[in-house]
Amino acid sequence: MNHVPLLINGELCQSATDAYIDVTNPANNDVIARVPCATSDEIEQAIDSASKAFETWKDVPVTERARLMMRYQALLKEQQKEIAEILAAETGKTFDDAMGDVWRGIEVVEQAMNVPSLMMGETAENVARGIDTYSYIQPLGVCAGITPFNFPAMIPLWMFPLSIACGNTFVLKPSEQDPMTPMKLAELFKQAGAPDGVLNVIHGGKDQVEPLLTHPTIKAVSFVGSVPVGQHIYRTATANMKRAQCFAGAKNHTVIMPDANKEHVLNNLVGASVGAAGQRCMAISVAVFVGEAQAWIPELAERIGQVKPGPWTDKDSAFGPLISPQARQRVLSLIESGKQQGATCLVDGSEVTVPGYEQGNWVGPTVFSDVTPEMDIYQQEIFGPVLSMVNADSLDEALTLVNNNPYGNGTSIFTNSGAAARKYQREVTVGQVGINVPIPVPLPFFSFTGWKNSFYGDLHAYGKQAIRFYTETKTITSRWPESDIPGGPNMTISLS
Ligand code: NAD
Repeated sequence: MNHVPLLINGELCQSATDAYIDVTNPANNDVIARVPCATSDEIEQAIDSASKAFETWKDVPVTERARLMMRYQALLKEQQKEIAEILAAETGKTFDDAMGDVWRGIEVVEQAMNVPSLMMGETAENVARGIDTYSYIQPLGVCAGITPFNFPAMIPLWMFPLSIACGNTFVLKPSEQDPMTPMKLAELFKQAGAPDGVLNVIHGGKDQVEPLLTHPTIKAVSFVGSVPVGQHIYRTATANMKRAQCFAGAKNHTVIMPDANKEHVLNNLVGASVGAAGQRCMAISVAVFVGEAQAWIPELAERIGQVKPGPWTDKDSAFGPLISPQARQRVLSLIESGKQQGATCLVDGSEVTVPGYEQGNWVGPTVFSDVTPEMDIYQQEIFGPVLSMVNADSLDEALTLVNNNPYGNGTSIFTNSGAAARKYQREVTVGQVGINVPIPVPLPFFSFTGWKNSFYGDLHAYGKQAIRFYTETKTITSRWPESDIPGGPNMTISLS
């Protein structure tokens, strides 16, 4: 049985713990590895190693740090398929989707390769007589990252490459449900030439996260996961005087206007709703059909109903199983609540089984119409292959619905009207908006900008915001007088 190692001070080592969590293949629940719950000593060693490594890493020229990212990007591209296979085996994602997960992480590493220009400060000459002002961007110190199960390559890669490229060192605590992918990323980072201690990886759950939120050495905490955990991490990290950015749950709406291109809408919504078994923080979970667009509902339901889940080893699988039996049970009980609370179940995936994989965490595509905002299936993040359809009479009504929702991760509108699209993009209180694009995940030269209950903090992931999150700005005011300045002491605050 594979015991997942820790990475401490450049060493891939076995934990001394006797507490382990099983890592399973979600397609049949076979145990494929065991992940240790790191001991307090090991967590302390990881933080200490990051702290010592910071003393030298912060002085490594920014160009050399960028070159580490270039070597890392090349290795990730070379081994994308191997990483995707590990990822598919422990998450159940289809191989193509697993390749996409890795690819979207590689794109962030490409952003980190630009760190010399991203870390340029500002200058202004002669702000007062003989005085120049300029700023430098400097690293913070030791940063920590806590990641969820649903993107085990992309989300760790949102965090440690940018933080480390900025001159910080890092302690990562990946999801205990799929830790082998992040471990492979860490091994490749070491292989790319990362000095010992610059990246450390510890494993476990809640108990292993807590020290990262309170330890005085850690300066900043990045988290991605569910709302209750995100709130707890934000409160604890900030109460311990750390910077925190916490990305949390979502309920993403798409608005379908009657003037939209019907084929484009139907084709896009199938994958955006049930793709990856709905386990994407940017999945479309609510479709709001405005006016005559409601006539398309039966056809969309029929197309979604044709999509079949299956194991990643089968090329015909459209999506995989849910991550765990608990996640499946939760989704099944929400489907049941939708039926009980009066929604119309047009497609019911709760009885789906996959021949040869009867023990897997399967839920088939599920579609509800006539959903109203009081229902649990509307209010809760389902995180399964379930699409709720809501009717609205006008764009204004759709906008009010979306804006009243407590989440604000992503949304989209399908329309051929520039005026409708502009009104929507301007007035919607959601941080990432797609126009005829269902899942608007920005590329890494922008930032990933969830709002409301989908994000706690100020500065978001990747893009320029991440550089600011992981750094301090130092502003220097300098004068180089050629001789003594006449006039005696300056008793005022003004520069002269
Ligand atoms: P989760 O909150 O259960 O776990 C996330 C991480 O937190 C894991 O590493 C876990 O070990 C740790 N953790 C769990 N309970 C904890 C506790 N009580 N204290 C401290 N740490 C704890 O989330 P998940 O199930 O792995 O991921 C799915 C969730 O992540 C969904 O809600 C999804 O919307 C969200 N997500 C959000 C984004 C985004 O960008 N907004 C992206 C991906 C996933």
